Amino acid sequence: MECIFCKIVNEEIPSKAVYKDDFVYAFYDIAPKAPVHILIVPKKHIVSIDEFKEEDNALLLRMFDVARQIAKRKGINETGYRLVLNTGKDAGQTVFHAHMHILGGDTLTDLG
Ligand code: AMP
Repeated sequence: MECIFCKIVNEEIPSKAVYKDDFVYAFYDIAPKAPVHILIVPKKHIVSIDEFKEEDNALLLRMFDVARQIAKRKGINETGYRLVLNTGKDAGQTVFHAHMHILGGDTLTDLG
């Protein structure tokens, strides 16, 4: 399958891992937009958050839980961080394998 994040999950292309378990994988964004910029993806291919089914609810919760753990580990839980889930074309989603951005480590610009 020609999905870059599936290839990252399957270690066919390299990434800098932050966290992994049987269901999710987290790695550093290749073009960071903040001092801490990490992506959390489900290991199974789901196009976007909009495509999550009811049976994926536990997976969605796990992604948030992992985000909180990573924020704590990276020391941004107290200064603050932003979780971003770009969903679809108008939101600027460029990789069509669902992912959560964790951004922090500095004051983030207002999204308006
Ligand atoms: P989005 O615009 O929400 O779809 O975000 C996709 C993100 O994936 C962008 O922030 C990219 O910098 C990041 N990205 C794309 N390719 C890679 C890669 N090979 N390794 C790490 N991050 C990547």
